[in-house]
Amino acid sequence: MPIISSFSLLLQFYMNIKMNFPKFSWILLSMFIIFNDVISSVVSSDIDCSLFDDIKIDTTTTSSHHQFSFFNQNLVKNTSFISAGFSSCTSSCVTSKSSILNLAKNIETVEWIKRLRRKIHEYPELAFEEYQTSKLIRNELDRIGISYQFPMANTGLKASIGTGGAPFVALRADMDALPIQEGVEWEHKSKVAGKMHACGHDAHVAMLLGAAKVLKSREHCLKGTVILLFQPAEEAGNGAKRMMEDGALEKVEAIFAAHVSHQHPTSVIGSRSGPLLAGCGFFRTVISRNQGHNADAMLAASAAVISLQNIVSREANPLDSQVVSVASFNGGNDLDRIAESVTLGGTFRAFSNTSFYRIRQRIEEVIIQQASVYRCSATVDFFEKEQPMYPPTVNDEGMYEHVRKVAIDVVGPNNFKEVPPMMGAEDFSFYSEVVPAAFFYIGIRNETLGSIHTGHSPYFMIDEDALPIGAAVHATIAERYLSEHE
Ligand SMILES: [Zn+2]
Ligand SMILES: [Zn+2]
Repeated sequence: MPIISSFSLLLQFYMNIKMNFPKFSWILLSMFIIFNDVISSVVSSDIDCSLFDDIKIDTTTTSSHHQFSFFNQNLVKNTSFISAGFSSCTSSCVTSKSSILNLAKNIETVEWIKRLRRKIHEYPELAFEEYQTSKLIRNELDRIGISYQFPMANTGLKASIGTGGAPFVALRADMDALPIQEGVEWEHKSKVAGKMHACGHDAHVAMLLGAAKVLKSREHCLKGTVILLFQPAEEAGNGAKRMMEDGALEKVEAIFAAHVSHQHPTSVIGSRSGPLLAGCGFFRTVISRNQGHNADAMLAASAAVISLQNIVSREANPLDSQVVSVASFNGGNDLDRIAESVTLGGTFRAFSNTSFYRIRQRIEEVIIQQASVYRCSATVDFFEKEQPMYPPTVNDEGMYEHVRKVAIDVVGPNNFKEVPPMMGAEDFSFYSEVVPAAFFYIGIRNETLGSIHTGHSPYFMIDEDALPIGAAVHATIAERYLSEHE
């Protein structure tokens, strides 16, 4: 029943009582005014719109839900009343900034996001093995009432919220953990020996689920479709690629993703236009003594290591940052015999595809030709099948600008930072090669808590206060993108 009809009935009821029992009419009048105030505040406030949405979509029975059981049992059962609430929410879509932040900071939602993150943290799973993490995500999406496509890339999934029509904008979270033994002693320490969420992907999943809940409660505000990608194997490098092969970017016209960062204070957002993260590749070579010659593979390999250093120091533009590092060197354990072969390997990075592929070509040339100087031969493997090279992550200017504006609105101008490029790498770059994209950081650094360690450290930890902010920023980026591109 629409609210206005409820009021008509109440008014009629009051008039009848007034005529028949004039002595009680003033009491009834007061009750009517109070009831009117309660109803008005419920349907007019942004936060209270979420209250209706929560009751409608969330079937869990936490204690705080019980506080609303009066509405649940006596009012909200009437579906037309829910519609009235929604139509009132619809008019509040304009003020989406504060509404979304309020929804994400709702105490119940914050606790839920933290619980999810801690659960995922306790049971980390490595690349392509994220079975329980994926199940947890699907269970939560089922509870919220969000449909999804599963499986993609083995354990990944693609959920959608909104009209089901264009435009389509994607938000991505990665699910995999690392083969690291957690060194942090805390209540929710990893329960799996030798595995840890040391890169914060547990936080990424929790933030995206937070955004999912918020966006679902504001589905009537969406002017298109938000695609949520939960992908496996970011660390292994081909999770994003496999997701794309399974249709993750079908119809998607823009994509965004976040990474937690120990370099920025809690909830500070950072990003930049253009190259943000380096392209990253790995190589391994085996240098062997040619048969029938007096040769020393150890000497040939040592010369190759020295020559590899010249690629960056003497060939590269010093204003275009590049790296070639030899990280392993193994000629066996014998102390009284010249090695037949030596295996060495390392990594290389650059911020543009041109530089990246030039370095790759030069590594191969330098190793093979340097080996031949010493009467040795070499084979070079770039692991392109098992672990594809990550291209550089390059933010589209327009998408970066969108993130910047949203971040400033949500966290304030002092909490947005334009950041320098970093030599780290991200498989988000595979998406950014295909559609306009922007990648951004969310600070989790809090000296008091001790969340000051870099990702991939056994002491890595996060300030969970960043989680609801991350959820709000994700949701706002998507909702506003659709409004601006309908
Ligand atoms: Zn990582
Ligand atoms: Zn990561």
